[in-house]
Amino acid sequence: MAQQWIYLNGEYVTKENAKVSVYDHGFLYGDGIFEGIRVYNGNIFKCKEHLDRLYDSAKSIMLDVPLAPAEMERALVETIRKNELRDGYIRLVVSRGPGDLGLDPRRSPKAWVIIIVEQLAIYPEEAYRDGLRSVSVSQRRNIPDALNPKIKSLNYLNNILVKIQANLAGVGEAIMLNSQGYVAEGSSDNIFIVKRGVVFTPPCYCGALEGITRGAIMELCAKLGYTLKEEPFTLHDVYVADEVFFTGTAAEVIAVREVDGRIIGSGKAGPVTTHLLQEFRKIVEIDGVKVYA
Ligand code: PMP
Repeated sequence: MAQQWIYLNGEYVTKENAKVSVYDHGFLYGDGIFEGIRVYNGNIFKCKEHLDRLYDSAKSIMLDVPLAPAEMERALVETIRKNELRDGYIRLVVSRGPGDLGLDPRRSPKAWVIIIVEQLAIYPEEAYRDGLRSVSVSQRRNIPDALNPKIKSLNYLNNILVKIQANLAGVGEAIMLNSQGYVAEGSSDNIFIVKRGVVFTPPCYCGALEGITRGAIMELCAKLGYTLKEEPFTLHDVYVADEVFFTGTAAEVIAVREVDGRIIGSGKAGPVTTHLLQEFRKIVEIDGVKVYA
């Protein structure tokens, strides 16, 4: 990518000139929402699902997105074209916009829309075969009646505190429990376990984001004939699982080989994880919106 162009409220500015106000409430309070989306060979994977989640988050926090969904889709397509990108990552941010120093959103009359597209540094291919090491952390998931984890808000401090614990433990992704002790998700990935051929993932009420990759994997399980159960489980179930994997836009489907010092299954990516990853990679260029059609 020669020159990187950022979409900022309907205009394209260079990376160096892409600046937001210090009065922006996304900056001052984490007041806003976002999406992380992948482009695979010119296909915006699950574009509609990402935009649905964005507009649901906006409705929940009473944020008026200045673009209708079709206009937002067009802005995504145009930003990717402008950057001549075929494969990469899109960060779509809608902030409450500049206001005053008080937190009242009525003082931020206009939301800001920012689209950043970039090449993506992903895990090396060996990591998908060998699996990641992971640990559980003491930081609990936000409780839904305080800040619902279904809202993909700019307030990621809960997740960042988990990431700090993962860093301290020297692992790439950690496992976060909810306040009742059930497994919720990773710092920025959903979690699945496999036991005796059955695939399990925590329901969203356990504190999981309704991940788009999670949804794609659930659809693939149905298509490929795996029984999928969306039900609460504990760390014990993770330790004794045959397979554990994380899902996310950046990570795709990545196996976990060790959790809290317990080796999971064979100690490398298991057959169900490997199969789901293979099938996932077949749909990423098909299911979505074509940028260069
Ligand atoms: N959980 C959290 C907290 C996330 O931030 C993300 C997104 N990185 C995910 C799960 C995975 O969601 P998706 O598959 O939509 O990227």
